[in-house]
Amino acid sequence: MVMQSVSSQTDTEAIIVGGGIQGLGVLHDICSRGIEGVFAFEEKAVASGTSSRSTKLVHGGLRYLEQFSQWGLVREALRERTLLLKLIPSLVTPLPFILPVFKNTRPSWMVRLGLGLYDLIGGNTHLPKSKKLSESEVLSFAPYLKLETYTHQDCFLYYDAQMLDDVIAKVVAFSAKKLGGNVWENSKVISVKPKENGSGFFVEILRNNQKHFFSTKAVVNASGAWNNSNLLNWGITPHVPCLLNLGTHIIFKADAVNAQPQKSAATLLQNEDGRVVFFIPWNGSWLFGTTESILDTHPNKIQPPQQDKNYLVECAQKHIQLNFPAEECIQEIFTGIRTMPVNFKNKILSNDNHFKNPFESPFYIKSLDKSISKLSRETVIDETVKNMFSIYGGKYTTYRSQSEKIGALICSVLNKKGSSKTNSSESWFIQEMIAQNPLLLQSDSSLRSN
Ligand SMILES: Cc1cc2nc3c(=O)[nH]c(=O)nc-3n(C[C@H](O)[C@H](O)[C@H](O)COP(=O)(O)OP(=O)(O)OC[C@H]3O[C@@H](n4cnc5c(N)ncnc54)[C@H](O)[C@@H]3O)c2cc1C
Repeated sequence: MVMQSVSSQTDTEAIIVGGGIQGLGVLHDICSRGIEGVFAFEEKAVASGTSSRSTKLVHGGLRYLEQFSQWGLVREALRERTLLLKLIPSLVTPLPFILPVFKNTRPSWMVRLGLGLYDLIGGNTHLPKSKKLSESEVLSFAPYLKLETYTHQDCFLYYDAQMLDDVIAKVVAFSAKKLGGNVWENSKVISVKPKENGSGFFVEILRNNQKHFFSTKAVVNASGAWNNSNLLNWGITPHVPCLLNLGTHIIFKADAVNAQPQKSAATLLQNEDGRVVFFIPWNGSWLFGTTESILDTHPNKIQPPQQDKNYLVECAQKHIQLNFPAEECIQEIFTGIRTMPVNFKNKILSNDNHFKNPFESPFYIKSLDKSISKLSRETVIDETVKNMFSIYGGKYTTYRSQSEKIGALICSVLNKKGSSKTNSSESWFIQEMIAQNPLLLQSDSSLRSN
């Protein structure tokens, strides 16, 4: 049996569980308000969860415009896109997108209307407006597309942005530390106990087989897919049942197609089954993915599902002029998982102790009676117990504005004033980070391997 040593208790202002973009974003926000004594704990490495496994788009989400209830989210995301393009231009860059219209998919007039609205909501940006392309223009933007599939189709061009997701998370962590925050990796939060007098929490951490004890006034549960399982492990009943949405991406080698990633547009494909698939030039290679599956098992050590891989390979063979058989073009394949809150307005009453198998509890929904694309991507911030906030759902693109909301909540718990400054380049320390280790600004594929 491994011996665990113990350390004495440290008093803190606030503790954040999870070193993904949401947890680190909250830390950065609180620190930018001049508040000290705040810790973020990450069980593995910063950005080793979904925050290195996204589609790597900083976008409003064109297809969310189909639901009027999501327009607010699209507006917020497009506002954040503009800000991030300005604040961290080396990590968030403009990306042209081709959007072909096929028979049996959304009609041309609807796409044109949606793009017009997207331009309008996008507001004052330096990105060019959307337009219809001629056949030759399509081929100059996306020479990798299969010619026979694309002639005689309407094709549109619009602009969004892309990012180095894991690198942004590392820059946010670095910047938070420069502003006085603490980030502990390889540190699992094993217990959170509300104090009997309601003045805060006792928190236990396991780091390198050593237990560390903390006392804190507020807790932010930003542990992504593990949110509800952590709560149940800590003896706290969640309020927000969620499903785990899984997405699979293939990175195709640079020479998989006859085109240069640096000079090509991305393509948004609408498949006949209604699913949306992205083919994106990314980081010198090609990213191809879809994000519409439901995870019905445990998220630890998850492998990309064979059916998603087959789906993507088939779709690539249909639409993309690959230089080699698809399997030979694959450089990497990875999977990401996010929570999507479901029916969170109806409380689940459960007296069972789900400690042993939290992912089998009713707080993880395993099936849905409608398409997953109909579920909202909005962030839900739930005060699970007094002064403990759990974050569900949300987009990478809106992490900063949502962190600002949580930063304000923490400020009021701590009874402190101070406004968020993450919208100003003075709160970002990219140059210092480059000076310390320029390699940190490169995407680290090992984070995406399970
Ligand atoms: C496939 C996919 C593609 C996506 N693509 C995009 C996109 O292109 N654009 C966009 O805007 N959004 C996208 N999203 C959404 C976005 O990526 C996620 O919302 C975001 O990355 C989630 O960040 P997070 O910090 O909540 O979770 P995570 O990054 O998963 O971080 C949670 C962390 O908590 C840690 N943790 C868990 N339990 C504990 C514990 N007890 N103690 C300590 N640490 C713990 C985990 O190790 C993990 O690192 C996508 C989502 C998915 C699933």
